[in-house]
Amino acid sequence: MFGKVKTGQPAAAGPDSSPAECNVVLLGMMGSGKSALTVKFLTKRFISEYDPLLEDVYSSEQVVDQQPVTVRVMDTCDQEGPVNNERYLTWGSVFLVVYSIDSMESFKCCQLYLHMLSLHRKSPIILLGNKLDMDLYRLVSRSEAESVASCYGCVFFEVSACLDYLSVQHVFFEAIRRARKG
Ligand code: GDP
Ligand code: MG
Repeated sequence: MFGKVKTGQPAAAGPDSSPAECNVVLLGMMGSGKSALTVKFLTKRFISEYDPLLEDVYSSEQVVDQQPVTVRVMDTCDQEGPVNNERYLTWGSVFLVVYSIDSMESFKCCQLYLHMLSLHRKSPIILLGNKLDMDLYRLVSRSEAESVASCYGCVFFEVSACLDYLSVQHVFFEAIRRARKG
């Protein structure tokens, strides 16, 4: 089950009786697959055409490592890169910076986001190469991405929004685990 929500206060771990909360922000160039990854995580389905200008926050109840958590996912849409970042900087508990492995431009754009997040001392951050099914057309190597990730002290994964659900779930669950650690 998931639903749309309004952006509220930053997530905080509630008292023991209430489920913890985690606000996940997806950032990256338009076309990198943020909406497809969000929809995949929330519905287990790949939706190939999604309104490219739609930005929204969705809420979903999950259980990660036997602990319930209310996950809110902000699927951003920045047409001008990492400016106007106030809406997610304080709200987010963890940031997924997404690029497409077949687009060097999207990878460069990711680095602008990583730089901006580091200037604001935001963490944890996950660098996420999407469209792994397009390996034949790969333009961003794993090693290149790994070295950028290590520069910014973040972890790195590659996934595909249109392949298996568990790999996408794994990335979101890792994000939640890292947010829990603070
Ligand atoms: P956003 O602008 O970052 O939200 O990107 P979208 O989620 O709207 O995806 C942009 C385009 O890439 C759409 O045509 C999607 O169908 C396609 N796409 C998204 N994820 C994948 C993927 O993992 N593999 C492939 N082949 N296409 C993808
Ligand atoms: Mg989108």
